[in-house]
Amino acid sequence: MRLSRYFLPVLKENPADAQIVSHRLMLRAGMIKQSAAGIYSWLPLGYKVLKNIENIVHEEQAKAGHMPMLMPTMQSADLWRESGRYDDYGEEMLRVTDRHGRDMLYTPTAEELITEIFRSHVSSYKDMPLTLYQIQWKFRDEIRPRFGVMRGREFYMKDGYNFDLTKEDALHAYNRHLVSYLRTYERMGLQAIPMRADSGPIGGDDTHEFLVLADTGESEVFYDSAVTDLSFGDRDIDFDSVDQCAAIMQEFTTKYARTDETHDEAVFNEVPEERRRTARGIEVGQIFYFGTKYSDAMGATVQGPDGKPVAVHMGSHGIGVSRLLGAIIEASHDDKGIIWPEGVTPFHVGILNMKQGDEDTDAACQAIYDSFAALGLEPLYDDRNERAGGKFATMDLIGLPWRITVGPRGLKNGVVELTSRRTSESEEMTAEQAVEKVAAIYASL
Ligand code: ATP
Ligand code: MG
Repeated sequence: MRLSRYFLPVLKENPADAQIVSHRLMLRAGMIKQSAAGIYSWLPLGYKVLKNIENIVHEEQAKAGHMPMLMPTMQSADLWRESGRYDDYGEEMLRVTDRHGRDMLYTPTAEELITEIFRSHVSSYKDMPLTLYQIQWKFRDEIRPRFGVMRGREFYMKDGYNFDLTKEDALHAYNRHLVSYLRTYERMGLQAIPMRADSGPIGGDDTHEFLVLADTGESEVFYDSAVTDLSFGDRDIDFDSVDQCAAIMQEFTTKYARTDETHDEAVFNEVPEERRRTARGIEVGQIFYFGTKYSDAMGATVQGPDGKPVAVHMGSHGIGVSRLLGAIIEASHDDKGIIWPEGVTPFHVGILNMKQGDEDTDAACQAIYDSFAALGLEPLYDDRNERAGGKFATMDLIGLPWRITVGPRGLKNGVVELTSRRTSESEEMTAEQAVEKVAAIYASL
């Protein structure tokens, strides 16, 4: 993409109403624009990152054997009356009446609708286990929408639902989700720590939230600092292996890590004092096992192996896809702007032309651009007729992890400059070497 043709409405000034850095930077970098309280348009740069995050979620769900689908945002109130949640959910639920006077709502989550789909089509234990998920917009009429996409009213969420014959099977599904989430967040450059949590209006006993540590987080968390040494890395996982998933679950949830809802001072005090931490965290996901709560209420039974009807065991599993943009920026920025992890960056590399209009410089930039395109990588080429200072500031603000700076002086010696956004370190090398080095970094992801 050429910056001269791209829609990147960057702001020079800090927006006055944005209280936290990720919100400020998303507005300044022209990623989002507020349209109403807690409701945003996603401009091209923000939309690109949103899609990258969504793709990672899809890829990791596929590895775990979960099936993508899509349910509507507008749902009939009748299903929610069956579960009792039409009354229980309260003012966070946006309720609408259609022209025929029928009660509708904008989905805040989708346990009821997925249970309805399941009970309509699955009648035998032989069709289980089954895990379906979607990535779809949700609406919750939050009392205080704030911090940009972190606490929106309309937000993008992955919600997955498992249907199993027995509690043991459903707990395996729970563990499988935990394992796949660990890898999902790491691919986004995040450490998200599973913490024992409270289930809220979804219901159920077994639940973990995934939290990214950040001072601006809305949750208070308590943990053994040893949990921050755990990393999932590049393990080969057999998602059908009950033992392997259970072992990973143990590994990542045995050390003390809880939100304030489940915090227990006495148990916390058993952690050696020098490892006890109290901090803030951003909730980027949550997994639940809630047994037969919805299948009982909505009559979702299957015929078991002995021919008798069995209420199915369920769980639901969410990832805050749009909130993740904010969380990633909170975890990865400096005073000049965003620093995207390679896994989610909107463009793989920036090409900065120091002297637009200079024949050799233009040609060298174009050649680098073409080489990346041939390798399937997407550069953002700043080909505008602007001062170099302004171009550097824009590149730093939008946070591409790698920048290649091309100017007449370097070209005279046959070199360009490759700069890491994270370390600010620059190296001179030939254009070919720079392309190779950047390509190798992305190939290794
Ligand atoms: P919170 O406690 O932050 O209100 P929640 O526990 O009610 O969130 P879940 O039902 O667990 O939310 O939804 C799954 C994920 O969706 C959350 O982990 C979070 O990342 C994201 N999410 C929830 N509410 C919002 C919101 N208002 N704006 C953006 N993302 C949200
Ligand atoms: Mg939650």
